[in-house]
Amino acid sequence: LVELNHVNKHFGELHVLQDIDLTVHKGEVLVVIGPSGSGKSTLCRAINRLETIDDGSIAVDGKTLPEEGKALAQLRAEVGMVFQSFNLFAHKTVLDNVTLGPRKVRGMSKKDAEELARTLLDRVGVGNQAGKMPAQLSGGQQQRVAIARALAMQPKVMLFDEPTSALDPEMVNEVLDVMVALAEEGMTMIVVTHEMGFARKAAHRVVFMADGQIVEEAPPEEFFTAPKSERARDFLSKIL
Ligand code: ATP
Ligand code: MG
Repeated sequence: LVELNHVNKHFGELHVLQDIDLTVHKGEVLVVIGPSGSGKSTLCRAINRLETIDDGSIAVDGKTLPEEGKALAQLRAEVGMVFQSFNLFAHKTVLDNVTLGPRKVRGMSKKDAEELARTLLDRVGVGNQAGKMPAQLSGGQQQRVAIARALAMQPKVMLFDEPTSALDPEMVNEVLDVMVALAEEGMTMIVVTHEMGFARKAAHRVVFMADGQIVEEAPPEEFFTAPKSERARDFLSKIL
């Protein structure tokens, strides 16, 4: 469903993505971990075209990402993204945050978009917050709204970039639970996270990145109990 072939990206001298080959299948949950600065966020952003690449190709559902324009907007709509900072529209209600995309990009009527939004807000456990402004919600609630907003576009794949790392500890699980449920429903997901509990529960595969390269990939049990590379062992010894 998502296919990266020989993807390279530089920031000036820095070779931030080095010949990345990665295929994520439909229904697969991929966890990406690795040290700070290893290129995890850049990888996510490249998949969504928030970042250009120097060479190689990225395809979503068999379609290579176009450079710009309407085709890009359409393809981007297939890729939901949830960031570390919740990025909700501060001056719009929770409900409007979720209905905006479907109305603008998918051309959905107000009524249909609101019906969809309410269903999704219920699903992530914030159905009773629809009329509030984002600032009136806790971090965990805001992040769940951000997930509902991404889902409202009915994306084929969801990208999560450290979705719980800005949250107070007591709110981490309420967000992870929503993500686990989504995984169990068969959503294709690429999740940058250091939450081992999530990886063990929901991931089919863990990809370990360091210095812009995919150093190792394995099923979670195997990766966490018997990492093959020295770098992965070293990294795990620091975070576990
Ligand atoms: P973290 O775990 O801290 O989020 P990461 O693995 O997500 O790290 P990236 O954010 O992808 O890492 O950054 C990879 C490298 O690219 C870092 O060295 C970073 O400083 C650099 N970098 C990221 N964005 C830019 C940019 N817009 N311009 C220049 N350098 C950048
Ligand atoms: Mg990052």
